[in-house]
Amino acid sequence: MDADFRPVSGFVLPRFAGIPTFMRLPHVTLDDPRIAQVQVGLIGAPWDGGTTNRPGPRHGPRQLRDASTMIRAQHGITGIRPFEALNCADLGDVAPNPASVEDSLKRMEDFYARVRAAGVLPLTGGGDHLCTLPILRALAKDRPLGMIHFDSHTDLFHSYFNGQMYTHGTPFRRAVEEGLLDPARVCMIGIRGTAYDSEDRDFARAVGITVIPIEEFHRRGVEDVMDQARAIAGDGETYVSYDIDFVDPAYAPGTGTPEIGGPNSWQALECARLLAGVRIVGADLVEVSPPFDPAGGPAYLGASIMFEMLCAMAQNP
Ligand code: MN
Ligand code: MN
Repeated sequence: MDADFRPVSGFVLPRFAGIPTFMRLPHVTLDDPRIAQVQVGLIGAPWDGGTTNRPGPRHGPRQLRDASTMIRAQHGITGIRPFEALNCADLGDVAPNPASVEDSLKRMEDFYARVRAAGVLPLTGGGDHLCTLPILRALAKDRPLGMIHFDSHTDLFHSYFNGQMYTHGTPFRRAVEEGLLDPARVCMIGIRGTAYDSEDRDFARAVGITVIPIEEFHRRGVEDVMDQARAIAGDGETYVSYDIDFVDPAYAPGTGTPEIGGPNSWQALECARLLAGVRIVGADLVEVSPPFDPAGGPAYLGASIMFEMLCAMAQNP
């Protein structure tokens, strides 16, 4: 692919130097004529207006970008060099309205509609999980997508606290209602933790979403679970949404709604690696909350998961 869209090499400028873009990629905005050559756009979504408990993911994109400068060009296990397979760029941040949920959803949908119109596949660093709803509204406007979703929570609740419809616990309920997802091609992995009730799981069962709870994940193992996830997604267009709280808080404490008993960082990476073969039309890594881990370990794990997802996109069928 075009050398203009490769990361800055650590042999040219040390990796601790320079302005931190995602994975040291060139910054190409939607108004830049070079956008026509970009195939995957890494995007920051600095918004947490859907957060119900511990806030902070609005600060995620900056910490993710900084951590992502640690990443080199070649995958350590597979040897895949995604920046040679795909023209990649950092498209910068979508601009939310910090004072309005409604306006933020609109602004994000408009931004991602432009990304889609430019023929760019988005790989987003959030932001809380409500960010995924306007992304899906833009990407799935004309037909429903499949989705592979890693999370401790289904985010399928109807509403929250006095009837609020838009929180990070409701995006996929709205997405199913709006016809953005094909429930038969949706698989949610890692679900666990205490709950208010079973309303979300009842909804999943009623519409035919596959939920793989954590006890089943640990019993079956990553490969078996991911074989099923790929089979559910099939060969159709699929979105991947990865909440960092999927990972055990021992490895990812910097998040708003941690749940114990999750996968370790090795399993977290392996899950993303085994997305290879899925026809990915977009992906995100959300819910990294720097105020809950200023040292940035979860951001480095998050950036590493984004790299795994990028490598999977480089193998898109
Ligand atoms: Mn979530
Ligand atoms: Mn979650």
